[in-house]
Amino acid sequence: MRRVLISGASIAGPALAYWLDRYGFDVTVVERSAGVRQGGYPIDVRGSAIEVCARMGILPALREAAVNTRRLTALHPDGRVAGRVEVERLLGTGQTQRDVELPRGELSDLLYALTKDRVEYVFGDSIRTITQHGDTVGVTFEQGAPRTVDVVVGCDGLHSRTRSLAFGPEPDYHRYLGFCFAGFSVPNTAGLYREAVLQNGPGLGATMYAIRDQPRLFTLMVFTGPQPPRGWTADDVRRRVRERFAGFGGEVPRLLDAMDAADDLYFDTVSQIRMPSWSAGRVVLAGDAGYAPSFLSGQGTSLALTGAYVLAGELHRAPEHAFSRYEAAMREYVRRNQDMAVGASFLFPRTRPGLWLRNQGLRAAPLLSRLSSRIDRNATALTVEDYQAPTAA
Ligand SMILES: Cc1cc2nc3c(=O)[nH]c(=O)nc-3n(C[C@H](O)[C@H](O)[C@H](O)COP(=O)(O)OP(=O)(O)OC[C@H]3O[C@@H](n4cnc5c(N)ncnc54)[C@H](O)[C@@H]3O)c2cc1C
Repeated sequence: MRRVLISGASIAGPALAYWLDRYGFDVTVVERSAGVRQGGYPIDVRGSAIEVCARMGILPALREAAVNTRRLTALHPDGRVAGRVEVERLLGTGQTQRDVELPRGELSDLLYALTKDRVEYVFGDSIRTITQHGDTVGVTFEQGAPRTVDVVVGCDGLHSRTRSLAFGPEPDYHRYLGFCFAGFSVPNTAGLYREAVLQNGPGLGATMYAIRDQPRLFTLMVFTGPQPPRGWTADDVRRRVRERFAGFGGEVPRLLDAMDAADDLYFDTVSQIRMPSWSAGRVVLAGDAGYAPSFLSGQGTSLALTGAYVLAGELHRAPEHAFSRYEAAMREYVRRNQDMAVGASFLFPRTRPGLWLRNQGLRAAPLLSRLSSRIDRNATALTVEDYQAPTAA
């Protein structure tokens, strides 16, 4: 069981490639995009995933790329300040000193740089069919010649094609959490620096992140509503966001105009993937493809990094039991972190009373400390095993 094909080169894919290569596997990564996808939104690497990054030797680089958000300011729909909290108070000094928040694209770049000379990357291609024959898997591609491998790993995200091909249609596993989002960048005319500003109405949130001293802000317009139909377009989203944020003051009118002009508009539902099993024969899933928790949990990247580490370790240790052991090790940790995103959302309360409570909570130390300990307990819930000395240099 030496030849592994990975679909997707964002976080889970290159992290898995790194560990498999270290254990002496023959790895190919196929990525639909023309290169490693850039994307400015900040992601968190927390708890057990920090230990995984330390073992990969990338922790100093991660800290170098850290966003180091100083504070979060919540605004009322008309732009008045509703509350403000220093991130250190929100997460606790221990967490802010240990955990790292950095732009997603920069983490992908780092993982790619670590593996690109040792692992085969095929960009601009995608798996078309998967056929399992006992001990091997036959794969055809949209562009390249067919291949036969021993294992296929889907690291191709929330809308994984590997999952659809090997496990069945997405709606069987997709759990819509009731929010949609539109993300884009805008010039930082608001003069923000290392901070996040969040303008909320019930079930609505316009968020601006100032990442280090970058000249553009990353903006996320989050809104509740029924699950959108398949094939919704950028124009549908723009219309919806305008309708929902009508009447907002402060920065929002400028953000809505910027959204219309944005050439980097990105939108999706806020959803999870929940599956009874992450493997089918010799096809297995890691990261968002198998257990997306949604950004409401802030744990998607950490699950992707730890999942990749555990899956590679188990394949190295005992290939015949690898998939069941991977599930046994990850299942509870995944469930706890997915559960954090369901129900009340601290960043995007759905109701007026919920919003009022959240704003009061921003000033209440005990509530903040309860929230931060819950995040930390779940983020550290996986004990990172040592899968013995690597076999390849
Ligand atoms: C707006 C936003 C904010 C977020 N904030 C946070 C946060 O604060 N903290 C956090 O931890 N997480 C956050 N996340 C989630 C985080 O980005 C994901 O959980 C994480 O990137 C999962 O990594 P992944 O490698 O599993 O999947 P992805 O990052 O989704 O990567 C999938 C890769 O597969 C490729 N691909 C897709 N289809 C195919 C195909 N058919 N063939 C080949 N390749 C394919 C894609 O191009 C992509 O490169 C956020 C996500 C979003 C959208």
